[in-house]
Amino acid sequence: MKIIDTHAHLQSKEFDNIIDEVIQRFGIVEKVFLATSYISDIEKAYKLTHNYENLYFFAGIHPHHAGEFKIGDLDIIESYLKDEKCIGIGEIGLDYFYNYAPKETQKILFSSLLDFAIFHNKWVSIHIRDAVSDSIDILSSKLDLKAIIHCFSGDFDLLKLALDRNYLLGIGGIVTFKNSLIRKNIKHVPLKNMVLETDSPYLAPVPKRGHTNEPSFLQYTLFELSNLLKLPPEEIAQITYENSLRVLNDK
Ligand SMILES: [Zn+2]
Ligand SMILES: [Zn+2]
Repeated sequence: MKIIDTHAHLQSKEFDNIIDEVIQRFGIVEKVFLATSYISDIEKAYKLTHNYENLYFFAGIHPHHAGEFKIGDLDIIESYLKDEKCIGIGEIGLDYFYNYAPKETQKILFSSLLDFAIFHNKWVSIHIRDAVSDSIDILSSKLDLKAIIHCFSGDFDLLKLALDRNYLLGIGGIVTFKNSLIRKNIKHVPLKNMVLETDSPYLAPVPKRGHTNEPSFLQYTLFELSNLLKLPPEEIAQITYENSLRVLNDK
């Protein structure tokens, strides 16, 4: 059995001194896609993916950092897109939970980066927190977008759009949390649209909740999904693996 972690931040400072150990204990995790949040973060992820064969990266500006975006940053991202280890653009999106950047700034950047991804025919890793309605407004006008909705919350309106457009939905540690919406609605997410993710170092699954998350913990999410969906873990592993590989082979 092998799985792919489609969204992790192994370039984060939490891993600076332990990255070798963390990679050595990947276990059934065969590959990890790194998500990035600002220009120097992309640079760090780029270097890491060139030091370790089983790592790849998305180059993106997180909505938290939308206020720092400068026009020349787009040229920098464009140059990363040519790299053999770069999968696409991410993470990008809207985050109205923290609102570190004004909503209008977030929306303009998100929309522009989606257009940029469509122009370059690249996959995007999308972050949406407490911003479903504005995200649906923006995404509705973006045809031909290849997208993973990372850390999918289980929201039905977003699910409907995602399935209409054949997006992939990233399922992470939150599905193991007792009262989460995604846990309640997971049976409505078709396996053919599902990929797995940790969002390391955040959102560690039960029974590691509260710890620094890492790719090896993705097995707990897989086994909990197996319980919830009443399907063998091997089947979920295989289908989500193939879905993730489809992204990698199309970069
Ligand atoms: Zn995110
Ligand atoms: Zn993330």
